[in-house]
Amino acid sequence: MNTFEYLRPSALAEVLQLLQDDPEAKLLAGGQSLLAAMKLRFAAPTKLIDLQGLPALRSLHLDGDALWIGAMCSHAQVAASTLVRQSVPMLAALAGGIGDQQVRNRGTLGGSIANADPAACWPAGVLALNGTVCTDRREIAADDFFQGLFTTALESDEVVVGVRFPRTPSAHYRKFEQAASRFALTGVAVAQCTQGVRVAVTGLGNGVTRWREAEEVLSRQWSPEALDGLHFDETQATGDVHASAEYRAHLALVLTRSAVQHLLQTA
Ligand SMILES: Cc1cc2nc3c(=O)[nH]c(=O)nc-3n(C[C@H](O)[C@H](O)[C@H](O)COP(=O)(O)OP(=O)(O)OC[C@H]3O[C@@H](n4cnc5c(N)ncnc54)[C@H](O)[C@@H]3O)c2cc1C
Repeated sequence: MNTFEYLRPSALAEVLQLLQDDPEAKLLAGGQSLLAAMKLRFAAPTKLIDLQGLPALRSLHLDGDALWIGAMCSHAQVAASTLVRQSVPMLAALAGGIGDQQVRNRGTLGGSIANADPAACWPAGVLALNGTVCTDRREIAADDFFQGLFTTALESDEVVVGVRFPRTPSAHYRKFEQAASRFALTGVAVAQCTQGVRVAVTGLGNGVTRWREAEEVLSRQWSPEALDGLHFDETQATGDVHASAEYRAHLALVLTRSAVQHLLQTA
């Protein structure tokens, strides 16, 4: 690992100034992705700006009728929250299924969505629920936020402060896990939103994406049978040592059907 300076500011304005002063500086949240990237020399920031000194970013509360989850809320905090379980239960289950206890204790919502790993769970949850990503300077709809493999709408000096989720009791996340890490080989989040059903698929290799055909048929007919005859386009998936593109595409259908089945059984 290259040498770097460690900084722990206690105000957001200070964080923003540090980012503007040094384009090679990077934010540090839970470090569960960034530190591994640094050890592998995929990243070599000159400064690490730790966000742990900003307790406001760990706030989890109702914002009007929406659920607000601060960027620095850990996966474990979300999984254990009664408020999350009551307002958007899918998110508590999704966060509780990430990695292992240490990853859940350190890793954060903001770090996960800023990183936009193509196998990550949070992007599927944020996209299916039509969440709004709030930064130090603007609000970004989930549809505009995720832009492909490790790519988001964030500017290099922009800080995610939290995500606002519409209260959505009927939503479910299913993933077929990569056995060692528990990252999604394929993962599907299905949500019954006010404007219709939304389906987001992660783990395909190219970044999280919506499955519009499934959304259309499920919005017309809320049942697993509505998906009969539908196939996820395998050209939207990538194969690797863990699974072929065909297998991942097949999993997208199986997991979507299984999520709908689960929601019908628990309604
Ligand atoms: C063994 C292991 C298993 C895992 N399994 C899973 C899994 O099953 N599912 C899953 O989804 N994930 C999994 N992860 C990833 C984990 O969820 C990480 O916590 C997450 O990807 C990154 O969050 P972090 O808080 O650690 O971010 P960091 O590693 O600190 O940062 C990641 C990136 O985001 C940037 N960043 C951080 N916070 C902000 C912010 N507020 N605003 C703007 N940019 C920011 C950083 O600069 C950096 O570029 C696993 C990780 C490990 C090590």
